[in-house]
Amino acid sequence: MAFDLLIKNGRVIDGSGMPAFRADVGVRNGKIAEIGKLRGIAQRTIDADGLVVAPGFLDTHCHYDAQVTWDPLCTFSCYHGATTVIIGNCSVALAPVRPGAGERLAEYLSYVEAIPMETLRTVDIRWETIGEYMAALEARLGVNVGNLIGHTAVRHYVMGNESQGRVATAAETERMRGIVRDGIAAGALGLSVSRVKAHYDPQGVNIPAFWADEDEIFALCDVLAELGTGVIQAGGGSPAELHNRLMSRLAEATGRQVVYNSLIHSEKQPELWKKHIALVDETAKSGIRANPMCTPNTTTHRFTMRNQQEFRGVPTWHPILTASDADKLRAYSDPQVRKQLHNEVIEWVADIPAAMIGRNWYDKVWVEKTVLAKNEKWRGKTVRELAEAQGKGIIDAFMDLVVEENLDTVFLRGVLGFDKEISSKILNYPHAYIGLSDGGAHVQFQSGVGYSSRLLGYWVREQGIMSLEHAVRRLTFENASVFGIYDRGLLRPGLAADIAIFDPETVNPLPEDVVHDFPAGAWRMRQLATGMHYTIVNGQVLIENGRPTGALPGRVLRNSMYRQRPAP
Ligand SMILES: [Zn+2]
Repeated sequence: MAFDLLIKNGRVIDGSGMPAFRADVGVRNGKIAEIGKLRGIAQRTIDADGLVVAPGFLDTHCHYDAQVTWDPLCTFSCYHGATTVIIGNCSVALAPVRPGAGERLAEYLSYVEAIPMETLRTVDIRWETIGEYMAALEARLGVNVGNLIGHTAVRHYVMGNESQGRVATAAETERMRGIVRDGIAAGALGLSVSRVKAHYDPQGVNIPAFWADEDEIFALCDVLAELGTGVIQAGGGSPAELHNRLMSRLAEATGRQVVYNSLIHSEKQPELWKKHIALVDETAKSGIRANPMCTPNTTTHRFTMRNQQEFRGVPTWHPILTASDADKLRAYSDPQVRKQLHNEVIEWVADIPAAMIGRNWYDKVWVEKTVLAKNEKWRGKTVRELAEAQGKGIIDAFMDLVVEENLDTVFLRGVLGFDKEISSKILNYPHAYIGLSDGGAHVQFQSGVGYSSRLLGYWVREQGIMSLEHAVRRLTFENASVFGIYDRGLLRPGLAADIAIFDPETVNPLPEDVVHDFPAGAWRMRQLATGMHYTIVNGQVLIENGRPTGALPGRVLRNSMYRQRPAP
């Protein structure tokens, strides 16, 4: 048998969760032709000895809506094995758009998702409808792109400036339903709504989707029920679900899959994740698909005691933070200051509402990097562990290290997802789906695109929280199923040849750095990967050992109804 591409001797993990096996994968016409010990000639052969051959990952929570117009690879998700990205999340999108309203939609994207406006102004908007937008993307894609219809864009299209300020009339809702219907008919994968209170435009007003009442949300989602296809995605779904079960009610009313942000363990509300899981358990038991997303990423603040703001608001600490370094060292050596700090943040003799740190902050702050070789043994230890190991008080142990290293010890404070045991429970929770890279968003703050390599490297290899087969299934088959992409997410003859080839012994995200590669000279954070050898899209190699090949094999992915439509 002749193949376009033959991947030899890999450890095949097919995405189903089945045990890995050694085999070749043959690709023809953009699809998987056969798996097994394969003979025959191929135009190109890749030796995958020692590497895992898996379905390409589906990075389902992205905001590349603008970026994809100048960067058809949607960097840097594909550097971490993503072959599909899904955009239009959280209600923000660049279609539908009235002539001349492009800048306004870009402003929502810019403020909600933190993308520089000077970059967004360079986007040449040559579409009006959702279908036209998808057709425009289709002409030049490296990865596959799935689109969600953004409620904010739809509302602005119908109601203009009044989309921020009032509920819709029955006639307006009907027009919005028409737009959703057209978008789904054009192949959009679903509809995204938002309940995020903190999402504002540049003038400080909530974005259009937030002004919708429940009737409007149910009416728009009902179009998906009517057509019998599509997923409903919600930004800010978790507070809404915990408040009045809006997510599960939407799923029940429409019979569609609802997926929302997010199941998370936060320092601020340390018990909430348990309550959330109990609620989702109940929903799942009654057969309703309303599922949160979760992330393998951790949010931490990195600081030294030279520049930190973590201890702002604590009476004794606050003035020290703005003092000179010499005064800081003097204060941190002073037994009287240490005693006051002990009273304030160890004994908590009085409530400190302004404090950023919580009661047991010393369990959530750990040593990241030391200056002196003799202190290296403290790396990875929390401040409490540091104190216990030396038989000192917490403040004394903390300050001794800081003073000895002239304020230059690097610490990390965990903010989200930092507790290993809880994160392991969340990442293994079957009713939450893994993703939330936010690719294309928050470009100057953090880069979450390495979530897949982090799951495979840190959580699977180093922490052993789940099998590699299960992790691959989480990144592929599950997300493909949730978003209605039924021809991807598994390695099976006949399915699309979206493939990630990686070294399970070395795969990891690399540290973030800064690149100045956005239009109009804007900079952004970049995160690359190690151990990710090939990203293959529709049978063509897109990324090879960290370098784009120049191929543009991506497609717009469309919903099941579109794909099964009768031929014209
Ligand atoms: Zn989002």
